[in-house]
Amino acid sequence: MQIPCTTREKELFDRVALAARQLGVPCYLIGGFVRDKLLNRNTKDMDIVCVGDGIALAHKVAALLDPSPKVNFFKTYGTAQIRHKDLEIEFVGARKESYRQHSRNPEVEPGSLEDDQLRRDFTINALAISLNEADFGTLLDPFNGRQDMADKLIRTPLNPVQTFSDDPLRMMRAIRFASQLHFTIVPETLQAIRENADRIKIITQERITDELNKIMLSSKPSIGLDLLYQTGLLKIIFPQMVDLAGVEMQEGKGHKDNFYHTLQVIDNISRNTKDLWLRWAALLHDIGKPATKRFEEGHGWTFHGHDAVGGKMVPRIFARLKLPQHDKMKFVRKLVELHLRPISLTKENITDSAIRRLLFDAGDDLEALMLLCDADITSKNKAKVKRYLENFEMVRQRLKEVEESDRIRNWQPPITGEMIMEIFALKPGRMVGDLKSAIREAILDGEIPNSYEAAYQYMLQKAKELDLTPVK
Ligand code: ATP
Repeated sequence: MQIPCTTREKELFDRVALAARQLGVPCYLIGGFVRDKLLNRNTKDMDIVCVGDGIALAHKVAALLDPSPKVNFFKTYGTAQIRHKDLEIEFVGARKESYRQHSRNPEVEPGSLEDDQLRRDFTINALAISLNEADFGTLLDPFNGRQDMADKLIRTPLNPVQTFSDDPLRMMRAIRFASQLHFTIVPETLQAIRENADRIKIITQERITDELNKIMLSSKPSIGLDLLYQTGLLKIIFPQMVDLAGVEMQEGKGHKDNFYHTLQVIDNISRNTKDLWLRWAALLHDIGKPATKRFEEGHGWTFHGHDAVGGKMVPRIFARLKLPQHDKMKFVRKLVELHLRPISLTKENITDSAIRRLLFDAGDDLEALMLLCDADITSKNKAKVKRYLENFEMVRQRLKEVEESDRIRNWQPPITGEMIMEIFALKPGRMVGDLKSAIREAILDGEIPNSYEAAYQYMLQKAKELDLTPVK
């Protein structure tokens, strides 16, 4: 075998080889599995292509395995899948694809292994390993994918302009692989992406976002995001990000380029978290800056309120990108809105009540918020970075102390909206909300203690100001 593999995988290959021999169809391991094995990356998804009927081969293989797995198959596509232990194996008949100018879907007909390799997107994805008796385990590499792997290059086997025009999703895939593998896209292929960028519009948002998320989850997402920007794809799929780019000068004063700052923040946070949504929060933390940018004479550039404005932009961005609309979106929005709060707590003479407020507002997401704030420090001045990090350490310490004494995280005020409605015979409405938040604010400000009795008395006093009398 010209790829490293485990005993379990080797056993499976022997079964597939036996099944293929019995059916008289040549078969090969192909694509991502071969690529990832050669790159020493973990992979559990195995693609097997055969010159014949892929569904029949899947059934034959399943029958030879113990226990025999269920075969899921799709007649229209001629594909079948089985799960064997922790492996996901997909079978397909080798095919030849030809694209017509007017249609996004290729015309497909059965073909040879070479035809099938030709329809693959990149040289590193076109490698195959024979599972046939005569040359079992041999690597079949018609486009020098092995060399491109060694040189860390992404290149299309055929003319790149045609390749990307045929299936524009491949442009996102090229950039995704560059980001995941830290590979370089060869100039001709990169140029073809620039030329075809506009064709990305024919691809569904779900598939684009899928690739975008893979870029976001790579170890250094800035590689992919910058390529999306440089090729013009970002302007089409996510224009608000592009609005962050550039530096404006007035009275000899510039501001930092918020696009490249953001890329640095996302790389920073990616060293400390694999959480996709925390990474999204890093990507969007300054998204409100272009809309709030002002030049104040004698002072310089300001972005007042970019946290709140940015937070408001999150739901629309998530909707457009077809990202989850509920909990994940709310988490990202909350972090964008709160991302300046810990910085404001690094000033001197911070009261316990300011600390308590942040504990209350951040709740369970406090650690995530602090990670975002650490990542947001992108100064090149090492002494400055050290000072900022120390300041945050102090904030963390204060947060810990106040939390230990007040237990305010995930805290619920002792008087609820339902209680207020019952006590004053009120229907749900503004008055209930006002009373409830007055009690909460008084406790957070330290005006009254965090107890039912104190809150009850305070509520009566506030109610009186509103001409309300308790009915019970
Ligand atoms: P990953 O598992 O990381 O997503 P992958 O993209 O290689 O890697 P699949 O999407 O399952 O995995 O694709 C399997 C193989 O099919 C690829 O390696 C490639 O050879 C081929 N392929 C996938 N999508 C395309 C495409 N749009 N155009 C041409 N070939 C493709």
